[in-house]
Amino acid sequence: MTGFSATVLTLYPEMFPGPLGSALAGKALEKGIWGLETVQIRDFATDRHRSVDDTPAGGGPGMVLRADVVGRALDSIGADDRPRLLMSPRGRPLTQGFVRDLAAGPGLVALCGRFEGVDERVIEGRELIEVSVGDYVLSGGEVAAMIVLDAVVRLLDGVMGQRESGCEESFETGLLEYPHYTRPQVWEERRIPEVLTSGDHKAIARWRHAQSEAITRDRRPDLWRAWEAAHATGGTRE
Ligand code: SAH
Repeated sequence: MTGFSATVLTLYPEMFPGPLGSALAGKALEKGIWGLETVQIRDFATDRHRSVDDTPAGGGPGMVLRADVVGRALDSIGADDRPRLLMSPRGRPLTQGFVRDLAAGPGLVALCGRFEGVDERVIEGRELIEVSVGDYVLSGGEVAAMIVLDAVVRLLDGVMGQRESGCEESFETGLLEYPHYTRPQVWEERRIPEVLTSGDHKAIARWRHAQSEAITRDRRPDLWRAWEAAHATGGTRE
């Protein structure tokens, strides 16, 4: 299969595919739309105890993944043109745009940190792209790598049922998504907004857009400012 190819370097390969083996991503994996390979970093330790980490130079708490061991693990994959990501809270924030770029490529290599992180020299020496999944600290890069892969895989051709279900979502338009409703018409005395059952498609589109704007303005002033700037028509705007 020549689909999107993912290689994950980890001390816990048994965590994979994990949630990526179910539902949309799992079906796509079965169909060969994408492929997943794991590399056990510990296989590249050379000492008797197969150690992969050591104490931080300069002192301080915790342990650091060794550059030599991680370097050998990375080199075992061989050279190809897939981006090499290091999951890291210091990294470039994962955004839908970044996810789209990754999904358009041949695949990715994801190195999962543990302990205090990875020796800086291997980040520089192997030109790893540090990627963060948010401003909080996880105990390891595995769940972060799963987040990246989950977001990427659903965009691959043939994964999502309806092609269009990818384009109206939060972030794709620069706005958060409008609210959804389905039957029953009344639930605990709450009705589906009337406009949605009116059959007036233009009115529905207007309502949804207004909701998207209001929700974005209210919840995410950062996204709202960016959206406003991108949609400023050059007219009179305060
Ligand atoms: N000492 C580090 C945190 C290490 S957490 C610091 O303060 O920056 C251990 C590993 O978990 C990291 O090496 C990284 O691979 C992963 N990780 C933790 N939080 C993450 C996040 N927000 N995004 C991506 N990876 C994360």
